[in-house]
Amino acid sequence: MIAHNLGYPRIGSHRELKWACEQFWAGKITRQQVQEAGRQIRQSNWLTQQQAGIELIPCNDFSFYDQVLDMSLTVGAIPNRFQPLRDQLDADRPNADLLTLYFAMARGYQQNGLDLKAMEMTKWFDTNYHYIVPEFTADQSFTLLSEKIFEEFEEAKQTLDTVAKPVLLGPVSYLLLGKEKKTGFDRLDLLDRLLPVYEQILTQLENQGADWIQFDEPTLSLDLTDEQRAAFAKTYGQLRAKFPKLKLLLASYFECYGDNLNLAIQLPVDALHLDLVRCPSQLDDILQPDFVNKQTRLSLGVVDGRNIWINDLAKSQATIQRAIDAIGQERVLIAPSCSLVHVPCDLDSETNEEGLTPEIKQWLAFARQKLDEIATLATLIREPDNAEANATLTANQAAHTARRQSPIINRPAVQTRLKQLTEEDAQRTGAFTQRQALQHERLHLPLFPTTTIGSFPQTEAVRANRSKFKKGEKSVEEYDAFIQQETEQAIRWQEEIGLDVLVHGEFERNDMVEYFGELLDGFGFSENGWVQSYGSRCVKPPIIYGDVHRPEPMTVRWAQYAQSLTSKPVKGMLTGPVTILQWSFVRDDQPRRDTCLQIALAIHDEVVDLENAGIGVIQIDEPALREGLPLRRENWDTYLNWAVMAFRVAASGVQDHTQIHTHMCYAEFNDIIGAIADLDADVITIETSRSQMELLDAFARFAYPNEIGPGVYDIHSPRVPTVQEMVDLLQKATNVLPARNLWVNPDCGLKTRRWPETTEALKNMVQAAQTARELV
Ligand code: GLN
Ligand code: ZN
Repeated sequence: MIAHNLGYPRIGSHRELKWACEQFWAGKITRQQVQEAGRQIRQSNWLTQQQAGIELIPCNDFSFYDQVLDMSLTVGAIPNRFQPLRDQLDADRPNADLLTLYFAMARGYQQNGLDLKAMEMTKWFDTNYHYIVPEFTADQSFTLLSEKIFEEFEEAKQTLDTVAKPVLLGPVSYLLLGKEKKTGFDRLDLLDRLLPVYEQILTQLENQGADWIQFDEPTLSLDLTDEQRAAFAKTYGQLRAKFPKLKLLLASYFECYGDNLNLAIQLPVDALHLDLVRCPSQLDDILQPDFVNKQTRLSLGVVDGRNIWINDLAKSQATIQRAIDAIGQERVLIAPSCSLVHVPCDLDSETNEEGLTPEIKQWLAFARQKLDEIATLATLIREPDNAEANATLTANQAAHTARRQSPIINRPAVQTRLKQLTEEDAQRTGAFTQRQALQHERLHLPLFPTTTIGSFPQTEAVRANRSKFKKGEKSVEEYDAFIQQETEQAIRWQEEIGLDVLVHGEFERNDMVEYFGELLDGFGFSENGWVQSYGSRCVKPPIIYGDVHRPEPMTVRWAQYAQSLTSKPVKGMLTGPVTILQWSFVRDDQPRRDTCLQIALAIHDEVVDLENAGIGVIQIDEPALREGLPLRRENWDTYLNWAVMAFRVAASGVQDHTQIHTHMCYAEFNDIIGAIADLDADVITIETSRSQMELLDAFARFAYPNEIGPGVYDIHSPRVPTVQEMVDLLQKATNVLPARNLWVNPDCGLKTRRWPETTEALKNMVQAAQTARELV
């Protein structure tokens, strides 16, 4: 039996890699210095794992930006547009400055007369981690370009005094996760050209003394076609034939193998990894005679790599024992369910008892604690009488009992309310057309009403004031006075430029989820619980540990204050239940659905309070609705049912003349348009300008009945759009949707922008709406 790990967080427990990279990008430190920062993180990670008792330690799981981009660099899949940069760099020493090329691919490059666009980025399966999408052309060639994997293998050997297990994104998933840049070919056709490079990599690793190689093939958790399945058989058949001595471990995670299980079992690999957290049932599925009679080992992913709760050691021990009884100890590896890159580094860095009380902390395990859990499980299996491991087990079981019974988790009133929830609670009183008439009568809005998505620039002053307030350097009174002044300015300014539905500006909010989490019971907050989102960007998700309850109104005060300043409608601004759920670590002791509906009830109460406070327009943001979709289609309906229900619970309870808005960022809407219509928001604003309104087609084809505000300009860039281009976009929109249903707004919130461009852009937008009104 082997205790192993699939990958470790590389950002550093105090985000050392983030700071190093950002300083390097700003030209403040040298390449040697940023490389040294990486080396220190790798070494510290390796030693941490070794000291914890992990026997087979991953290498090449480190990355300066993203592991998929690493693979692109390794196999030389560099898009042609970067050739001028390579020519410049190679003029000195061929391939000497791969790091510059690498960061250019990730972030774009505007220097020395070049202006190169970054490669696209997208979500890694259903995580909040984003990878850089490989770009392929029909004449794509691959060559071994980067030595990173060999260097890190060597470095690990020096550090650990033993051989580590190189982690490679498998060739099939690497191709499938990429994109054809031109049509006319299938990226899987490139497999024959790609495999020789993988073989070169394995040859060299074998020469360096490698024993195990981990191939991550998480696309085995998706719905696959027959051709895609055949690519797996071919790939691993070929690698096996060429490398009879290397031990190949195949890892998929985040879902069941499902109908790919038979394929996976047949692959001639030495070990197959199972994510037993997301799919506990697949252990029984696999422990059937045809598998048991083979030699293949099983890597049992029993420790949750996607969430921050302690493991149930007794349960995991039983699971492992069940596998051992069937196939014997020699064929078992113990592991986290997936790479630990999706959880924060170390619970021991958490010292602020306000965010996480000692009671809550005893229920949590971050990456470093998860290593201990794996090691403890290995000990419990090998030496059932080991005193230390048994003491850990006892404490672990006590923590679970305490968690089940804790009053900070169980709020009977919330549970009862959830049980009593009916379809009726998810229903506005009147149908949309009835509501629309009443809202128009009440709000007196022109055709093409103008509005914004909620936030205004979070200036230096806004950030500085908040941080001083948090540190106690500013009193509540001082801070409130500041927010009040910012809000008043924003209202005056919106009136001046002539917007129709105003917002208060969200100056009091740090983050659209954290802000609500801090005001709701049942949420905890870490100080250093950072998880890599993309490149040097990290997020610190709140931790939902208990039944969610709203002790008092959360947004009424600022909404009401803003409304008191103007006769124009001010839109109340809330984050929706699905988004709060999606961007938090969620409790694992009840279904996600239940947690989501509890949040929905809290938001519902807030919506009702806003209405009672005289707010006639209320926006409930749901940018994360689509990203919550399960990986396999067969599970979509179940998810969409409760997600839509949660939104509707939040939005119902107000009178028909109160207008409910929702907002979603850029997403593929086509396949969920029915669910979006089911939300039955009176108005939805969406990000569309980058796609030149193409995204609207989904709404048009569906004959989307309610009002809609397709974003008319991209807020991600400081560029000020012209009146004419926004008029053009509006005309495009009127070609596919009725003009009376259209709103005019930017793509998303403006918090990352500065005031000068915001002012110019919104003035032009108001002008564009006026022009559009004259045109119809
Ligand atoms: N109301 C939020 C804002 O304006 C919405 C942000 C989002 O869609 N991600 O910032
Ligand atoms: Zn948005």
